[in-house]
Amino acid sequence: MKNYSIAIDGPAGAGKSTVAKKVAQILNFIYIDTGAMYRTIGYYCLHNNIDVDTEEDVNNNLDAIDIKIKFVEGMQRIFLNEVDITDLIRTQEVGEAASKVSVYKEVRTRLVSMQQEIAKKENVVMDGRDIGTVVLPNATLKIFLTASSLERAKRRCKELEEKGIVADLEITRKEIEERDYRDSHRENSPLKQADNAILIDSSNMTIEEEIDNIINLYKKRLENEENDK
Ligand code: C5P
Repeated sequence: MKNYSIAIDGPAGAGKSTVAKKVAQILNFIYIDTGAMYRTIGYYCLHNNIDVDTEEDVNNNLDAIDIKIKFVEGMQRIFLNEVDITDLIRTQEVGEAASKVSVYKEVRTRLVSMQQEIAKKENVVMDGRDIGTVVLPNATLKIFLTASSLERAKRRCKELEEKGIVADLEITRKEIEERDYRDSHRENSPLKQADNAILIDSSNMTIEEEIDNIINLYKKRLENEENDK
């Protein structure tokens, strides 16, 4: 059976997960948040005093990290050594650690092969940084979703405010730009738009508009595939 896939890449805070989740729901696909896998390794390192800046230390511990993805009522839950840590990995600190460990080749090789295995079995909407370029180079549709760093910082501050946390817009923007820089300048699978990905700048779009746009692009892609047969 042929599997279908939508790859959604883009920088931190572009709204990939919100849009990807909705698109997956509409198409009845599985949504895979690959960032959660990198966050799980970052989380493990933070909680086991492993220096995320030392590649060898991180590599030496990878065999002790068992990551499993499960679906509860259609939502992805992530398990680290059989413990559900889905709700513990969304902090800024874990995000930073994830961004650091994601630079290492061995970390990427392991996670990419897990992601490819899932996509072999299911129709997926997968979001991350290297989905269209490395994980699913033959994805049915590739989207590169971005927004200005100011807009992304505003969204992040609003999200934190809703949790009762006051965040400084300029500091948040600076952190986002640093993360962008690290993600797009690393040697292994840097964040970049795949050649055949469609760029969507969501700075001035509503979430509904983004979703409609992607669903329409996907339908067109399928029609073209049919016509090419
Ligand atoms: O998307 P999220 O912010 O949860 O990802 C955390 C970090 O994991 C990113 O900043 C990025 O460095 C890394 N990542 C990656 N490749 C992916 C997904 C995430 O390098 N496919």
